[in-house]
Amino acid sequence: MSKNRFDGKIAVITGAASGIGAATARLFASEGALLVLADINAEAGQAMVDELGADKTTFVTCDVSKMDDIGKLIQTAVNKHGRIDILFNNAGIGSFGTSVEMTAQTWEQVIAVDLHSVFYACHHAIPHMSPGASIVNTASISGLGGDYRFAAYNAAKGGVVNYTRALAMDHARDGIRVNALCPGLIDTPITAATKEIPGLAEDWTSRIPMGRAAQPEEMASVVAFLASDDASYVTGTIMVADGGTTACTGQPEVARFVDDP
Ligand code: NAD
Repeated sequence: MSKNRFDGKIAVITGAASGIGAATARLFASEGALLVLADINAEAGQAMVDELGADKTTFVTCDVSKMDDIGKLIQTAVNKHGRIDILFNNAGIGSFGTSVEMTAQTWEQVIAVDLHSVFYACHHAIPHMSPGASIVNTASISGLGGDYRFAAYNAAKGGVVNYTRALAMDHARDGIRVNALCPGLIDTPITAATKEIPGLAEDWTSRIPMGRAAQPEEMASVVAFLASDDASYVTGTIMVADGGTTACTGQPEVARFVDDP
């Protein structure tokens, strides 16, 4: 049965030109939303408009690490539609390196794109949101624990997790819900680099209890739940969608090592 949870809703999505953001834009559009999409990749952003229709989709080239760019993005949405019903803060980057290996410039870039951007967007958008509006922030299971040589990303996404809780508190009485999505391993371009390191993708996948990475559409359906009235009493929630990864203590599967455990 087809749903129309977003009929006439105005949704702003960052990082909308690829992966989880693009899949979510497609799902929101299929359920009636009017979209204002943002990404640093103008060509791929324009392709989303061509695909989803210029009557229902606006694209804004935007570097989410820049307060002014986000201000212009939100202003574009408000000038066009008069309000914002859904804000999906999703743009993000990763980077490898310990705190010794990493430059300050890389650290600052990851924190700016992954964490500061969420503040910038909320700062500008919330005054244009009314009771019933919803914010979803893409964090990560890397915001719930530490990874090897992923320090900046762990710090940024951990910040998104707790900032989501703070936002939920501050705006609960305004009727604005705020939740975070914590994806596990998702098959998108952001993880493509890991496939070039021999054995890494296989090792990573073998640690996922469900035994596979997710497709971006499997994240879009979670975002849609959180953003919709289906989740009308859900705020401040950190929603994990990771094929069971964080349910595991890290203990190896005994059956792999002995025939009869
Ligand atoms: P993706 O690379 O397909 O999409 C990320 C999008 O963000 C791209 O379109 C990119 O152009 C855009 N972007 C990057 N820097 C930007 C900037 N400064 N300004 C505006 N746009 C910018 O990857 P994805 O997996 O869809 O990532 C979406 C979100 O999911 C990110 O926040 C990422 O950290 C998070 N995440 C991904 C995974 C995974 O395994 N893929 C796991 C956990 C969390």
